[in-house]
Amino acid sequence: MNNARLFKNQDDMDSTLPSASSNFPVSNGPVQLRVVKNAAMKTVDLRKSYYKHRVELPVLKGVDLEIEEGQFTAIIGQSGSGKSTLLHLMGTLDAPTEGEIWYDGARIDNMSARHREHIRNQEFGMIFQFYHLLPELTTLENVLVPRMVQCGIFKYWRQKREFTNRAMELLDRVGLSHRLHHKPSQLSGGEMQRTAIARALISKPRLLLADEPTGNLDRENGEIVMSSLMTLCRDEQLTIVMVTHDEEIANTADHIVRLADGRLAAI
Ligand code: ADP
Ligand code: MG
Repeated sequence: MNNARLFKNQDDMDSTLPSASSNFPVSNGPVQLRVVKNAAMKTVDLRKSYYKHRVELPVLKGVDLEIEEGQFTAIIGQSGSGKSTLLHLMGTLDAPTEGEIWYDGARIDNMSARHREHIRNQEFGMIFQFYHLLPELTTLENVLVPRMVQCGIFKYWRQKREFTNRAMELLDRVGLSHRLHHKPSQLSGGEMQRTAIARALISKPRLLLADEPTGNLDRENGEIVMSSLMTLCRDEQLTIVMVTHDEEIANTADHIVRLADGRLAAI
């Protein structure tokens, strides 16, 4: 596994990047982590505070993170460490208090709501701890829902065969070809999460953001979901960022970074 590399200060970060096999000294002081050369997404001094009765609750206190294109990055941290907050910011679902978020060479945190929604729909897929499947629809229909919403009824019907083929291909990749016409109530937790993964990928996103995707599953099903994610990461040239409190689950990823006390920390 190739863990995140450590940089002590901005000058180090700006200097020529060493090769992937380089070993970096681990600093005991505050560190900034940099994962990569080829960044699909990066955050720069990202800060987020919540306010209660005008009292500031700082959650992210300056996160500098680079996510490598086509790789599976896991962000680990204890409950309450700000993992979901960070992921929501990366997915443009919430706005940072300070700092920047860059995606594919463009700054996205300060874009208009319309542009952010466009990027979210076209470029990002998201999965969560709970699957949020529609109970009255079958597995196949659930996977097709984002296409129905995006296209509107006429375009959807014109392209229904193409969309259905894509949905069936994805369901095959996550091992659910034999569950196409089951309703969520007839599926196991692992099968529901794999349906949610296929749904997140139906529109061919380039970045998948996953918030504790195995959080509601037993170990065996958690591993099956991880294995599906790894396969999709390779086959679809997908960049995956997953947050989890589970170190064992995170160990499967290509890169691991830790979030603690609002900052990235050494592993
Ligand atoms: P994690 O996902 O690592 O468990 P979160 O990002 O959900 O952590 O939350 C980090 C901290 O921010 C927690 O202390 C939580 O209570 C607080 N928090 C999260 N969302 C809000 C919110 N909308 N308003 C106020 N505080 C929040
Ligand atoms: Mg969370």
